[in-house]
This record gives sequence, structure tokens and C-alpha cells, in this order.
Amino acid sequence: MKQNERVIICGGGPVGAVTALALVQQGIPVTVIESFEEPPKDPRAATLHPSTLEMLDTLGLAEGILQRGLHAPAFQFRDRKSQEIVAVFDMAHIADETKFPLAVQYEQWKLVRDGLAALEEYDIADVRLGNSVTAFSQDYDGVTVVTENADGELEKIEGRYLIACDGGRSTIRIGLGVFMSGFTWGERFLVLTSMHDFAANDAYIYRNYVLDPTEWCAVFKVMGDEDQGIWRTLFPTSEGELDADLLSDAGVTQRISGLRPDMDHNDILHRNLYTVNQRVADRFAIGRIFLAGDAAHLNNPLGGLGLNTGIHDCMNITKKIGDVWFGRAEDDVFERYHRQRHQLATEFLQSVTIENKKRIEEKDPEVIKANQKVLRENSEDPAKAKTWLMRSSLLDSVRKEETIE
Ligand SMILES: Cc1cc2nc3c(=O)[nH]c(=O)nc-3n(C[C@H](O)[C@H](O)[C@H](O)COP(=O)(O)OP(=O)(O)OC[C@H]3O[C@@H](n4cnc5c(N)ncnc54)[C@H](O)[C@@H]3O)c2cc1C
Repeated sequence: MKQNERVIICGGGPVGAVTALALVQQGIPVTVIESFEEPPKDPRAATLHPSTLEMLDTLGLAEGILQRGLHAPAFQFRDRKSQEIVAVFDMAHIADETKFPLAVQYEQWKLVRDGLAALEEYDIADVRLGNSVTAFSQDYDGVTVVTENADGELEKIEGRYLIACDGGRSTIRIGLGVFMSGFTWGERFLVLTSMHDFAANDAYIYRNYVLDPTEWCAVFKVMGDEDQGIWRTLFPTSEGELDADLLSDAGVTQRISGLRPDMDHNDILHRNLYTVNQRVADRFAIGRIFLAGDAAHLNNPLGGLGLNTGIHDCMNITKKIGDVWFGRAEDDVFERYHRQRHQLATEFLQSVTIENKKRIEEKDPEVIKANQKVLRENSEDPAKAKTWLMRSSLLDSVRKEETIE
């Protein structure tokens, strides 16, 4: 294929796969370069919000997700010590605002699988798994990337644009020298997966935030690799705790038995530790190269917004590429991509996720009481619940995006 006849996508994770699909459905050829031979199944994003379901619906992916995912029409806040349910936010309050007034619990590797399967239907989709981008450049006419396969063979590929969907350690962002402003939290998050049925035994629903000044946690259900239904519990760790201790049988038992005294490490199917960042790239558009997803912004996972906002980036940039490709717009629209998505990542994504973390870990008893009152009032009053849900489901963010010039 000649230069300028395709868009190159570095990274075939969830954002890369959906980006590719959004382009080929407009008739724009893509080459996707992905290091992995198949999507890793580590427990990361699991919640798709209404705004994202709407977008995936336009690409034909939502129906399968709704069929195969777990429907979560509400989420819950509870107090860990008293086990009192503080608030339940029912997404029926936004039923007049969206076709999908629910969240769907759907592991990100399944979204990648669906996206890559859908791409197989398109001759203009060239997907190269097991290949990594090792170098890249751009000039007035296009972009060039160098890829390397498992045998060390190098290949040069040319295109009109390059989209960096290559995650938090983005080769492209680092190669461009784009800084990620923000900070990294001192503690890390530990995710433990088990078959213990928190709904049947403990009156949890599928998405739960458990407030506690000493050790808060989040409890979620997903379908699991074999659709067996599994539960993820997410705990903070203390600064200075060693990986080996945290992931040891004793470390895992200490955390899970604190939540359920009858559980220990034998109940745990998977244990994973994550570094937690709050960072936004200083530039999202650099000439013919665009950053999207974790390559552009990182946040703590409370609220389940990282992947969702990554999909929102991809819908924005692919629409603009389509407009320029088919002569409906000039390439100055790419500056607007930066302005829109950078502003929302900075003002919205960072503030909501930091707020979520502060609320769940609050230590001052008076503030805890006040926070719980606010949660209760907001969940019980339909108008307030709607306002809360419009924000947490990113519908507000989508509407705000349209107003950013
Ligand atoms: C514990 C946890 C829970 C989370 N829960 C949620 C949630 O509920 N909802 C939510 O929205 N978000 C959640 N997130 C965040 C979410 O996982 C990320 O935002 C999401 O993975 C971003 O997708 P991405 O495609 O941008 O990047 P990634 O998933 O990191 O994918 C990047 C891809 O690029 C490939 N790649 C990298 N470098 C190269 C290269 N040089 N050449 C070729 N390929 C390359 C990688 O192999 C990878 O497949 C959570 C994160 C964590 C850690």
C-alpha cells in the first residue's frame, strides 16, 4: 500500500481495536501493530458506561456486549465497619437521557476480542499481532513506523496518520518527548479475584464502593474467562509494602480475611498489583500523530473511567480523520481534538477520579459523616441522583466536549 493510503495504529488494546473499527467503517484503511499475539486477560477495565455503550452501538459492538456482559443497573456505597448500605444509585434516573441506562460489566480483553473479530470482516483492515513499533517519524507528507516481529525482522510501514493507542508506557508519546503532567500515588492497588459470591452472601450488587478510613475496597462482579461469574476485590496498599509481601499467601490472606473472615489465599484465583497514576499528556496532537487512551491520560480506576474515556478519545479523533480524509474539513480540526480531549482529561477525568479516591478513603470522622449524608441525599432525590449519574456515566463529559471549540 502506498504512503498516505492508510492510518497506522500503534497498539491493538481496547482503544486501538475500537479506533481501527471506527476508521474502517468509514472506508479508511488501517494497519494495526500490536505486540501481543492475543489480548492479555489481566483484570483491568470491566465497566462500560452508558455514554460508551452508545458509541460502541454506532460501531455494531453494543448488542454482543449487552448479550454477553453482566448488566449493572445500579451501584452501591457501603460503610465497611458497620456494613451499612449508605447509598444506591439507580441508573433508571437517566433513562430519559440515554438508550442505555445501565453499566455493563465486560472485561476489556473481551472488547479487544470483539473489536479484532469485527475487523476481520474488512479487507482494508491489516492487523499485525506479535509485532512492535520500535521507531517512527513524520514529515509533511505522512508518517513512517518501523516494526519488529518475534524473529527480530524489521519492516518499514508508511501511512498518512499515526494514532498512539499503545498504553501508559506509550513508545510513541515517549519518543515524541511529550510529558505527562500530574503525579503518581504513593500506594499501589491490589486486585484479588475469587469465586466467593458477595451478592448471595453479603448483599452486594455488581458494583460496590466500600468506604473505610483504614482500608477501603471496591467489590465488582464480572463474568470471568469461562463465564463462570467471578468477583474482584480491589484494596489500597501502604507505601513501602513490598511486592513479595503483598502478593504472598500471607499478604493475600490478611487482606481478604479482613473483608470476609472465612476466606484465605486458597480462595483467590488471581492476585495483581497496579501502580496508580493521575497524569495527562501535555499534547494530544503532534502534527500527524495523535495520542488516545492510556497513552494520553492515566487515572486511578475508581469510577471505571480510564478505558471509557479512551474510547471517547477514539470516537473524537476518528471522526475528525474521516472529515479531513473525505474533504469535509481542514486539518486544523486536529488542534480541536487536542483542545477538547485534553481539557476533559484534565478538568473532568482527573477531578472525578481524585474525588472518588478521596471519598472512599476519607479519615476524618466528621467528613465521613458529611460525605455519607451527601451520598444518601444524592441517591434518594431523583433530580440529584440524575445529576450525579450524568457525571459518573460520562454523559456530561460527552455533552461538554461538543461545546469546546
Ligand atoms: C485495576 C484496574 C481496573 C480498571 N478498571 C477500569 C474500569 O472499570 N473502567 C475503565 O474505563 N477503565 C478501567 N481501568 C483502566 C483501563 O484498564 C485502561 O484505561 C485501558 O486499558 C486503556 O486502554 P488502552 O487501549 O489505551 O491501553 P492498553 O490497554 O494498555 O493497551 C495498549 C496496547 O498497546 C500495545 N503496545 C504497547 N506498546 C506497543 C508497541 N511499541 N508496539 C505495538 N504494540 C504496543 C500493548 O501490547 C497493549 O495491547 C482499570 C485499570 C486498572 C489497572
